[in-house]
Amino acid sequence: MEPIIKTRNTEVVYNLGKKNEFKAISDFSIDIYPGEFVSLFGPSGCGKSTIFYAILGVLKPSTGELIVKGENPYAFSPAEMVSYQAKTIGIIYQAFFLIPSLSVIDNVALPQTFMGTPYPKRRKRAQELLDRFGVGSKSDTYPALLSGGQSQRVSVARAMVNNPDILLADEPTGNLDSKSSDQVMEYLKELSERDKKTVVMITHNAAQLHYCHRVFYMKDGRLLRVVPNPDKPQIAKFDKQKVLVTEIEILSKIYPYSQPEELKVKSIINYLTQDLDFLQLDRLEKATAKMLMRKVSRDTFYEYLKVPILKGGVGLPEDRAAAMSDKIEQILKQSEDVRRYRRRMNVGVFFNREEKLINDILFYVMEEAGISLTREKKMRLKQLVRDRVSGLIRKEEMEEILKRSLDKKGLDFKPDQVFKVVSYFEKLLTQGVDTTNKS
Ligand code: ADP
Repeated sequence: MEPIIKTRNTEVVYNLGKKNEFKAISDFSIDIYPGEFVSLFGPSGCGKSTIFYAILGVLKPSTGELIVKGENPYAFSPAEMVSYQAKTIGIIYQAFFLIPSLSVIDNVALPQTFMGTPYPKRRKRAQELLDRFGVGSKSDTYPALLSGGQSQRVSVARAMVNNPDILLADEPTGNLDSKSSDQVMEYLKELSERDKKTVVMITHNAAQLHYCHRVFYMKDGRLLRVVPNPDKPQIAKFDKQKVLVTEIEILSKIYPYSQPEELKVKSIINYLTQDLDFLQLDRLEKATAKMLMRKVSRDTFYEYLKVPILKGGVGLPEDRAAAMSDKIEQILKQSEDVRRYRRRMNVGVFFNREEKLINDILFYVMEEAGISLTREKKMRLKQLVRDRVSGLIRKEEMEEILKRSLDKKGLDFKPDQVFKVVSYFEKLLTQGVDTTNKS
């Protein structure tokens, strides 16, 4: 399947060649597929709207490619551009931008004027859409008399009036209360699922990311990473490597602006402790970051954990400091095998080393969970470990198979065993995933 929107090494510069020249987008490469619901997500000023303007055909990239439906919009004649902006793309703004002097129905019907549709036909189409989005009774009133939620639903109708393939939604719920937000989001979801529209949404709201197939995280005009939503069947095809959903992806929803390195730190801290105060946690985080980057040894780390709080340390008792240091060292060492396995899988080099790596990982997990297994169960657990490290199954699927009875090809584990096996194994995966790649 060809992407409906494709950019390659795209760069967008404001005030090109002037003294106040500003590069808002650098080296931006994405593929968005027909029918996908995706989000551009990132802090204010990171370039989300700039991407929208570029797609809309009003801000020409200075370098790189931008292809929409197989064509470069900047090669269009003026007439073709009018048709492109009316028919290919529908847009919804945070501030609605309804025309105050026109009735609601005329606002919705307006974009059809550029397509030369006769007035009665325009009105009929507009009314159908207003009905569909629950504002049919408002057609003859004026925008000033609508609530925020109603205004945005009118905007959705307007964006859809020429039945475009792509819907751009620029913070569509930014001005709405939570109930109206949910309504608008549900309509966008419906347009994606039922009408198979491609929806590209700008949002600041992490709570809305679950609507999307994929999230493009941006920062400082660049694409930071692409995260597929594990809860949605994907439209875009992935390398199975990249679909491995670890706690990192889950954490990245909670801490959307954190770098993958910071998320690794949070993940492990959360595993090690639940009962320290924030000052201690903060110091522990910083020390752990150094340890994860292999900047300090296990012994230096251990010493720092014992230093009293008033002297700038974490202030942990000796035995706790030792246990933590040993555990982190162990996870780091063991996660190396996950990393090696995945690297080999990436380049497709599989010899008998692969078998040994899986056996080692299996051993670590069993030892940590304090379980010994029959030969048969061990083989099944090994297959599960292999599938999970390869990214073929999700954490939930692994849990399910562990719980399932023996006669149904499960392992018949008790809940506490499932928890131990899965939580330790996910730590190894999280630390063993290479986060130097973007996606
Ligand atoms: P976002 O939508 O993520 O908040 P924008 O795409 O609006 O970010 O802006 C990206 C960067 O480009 C910002 O640093 C912003 O200040 C800058 N910028 C936006 N519009 C212009 C403009 N017309 N002229 C110069 N710089 C601009």
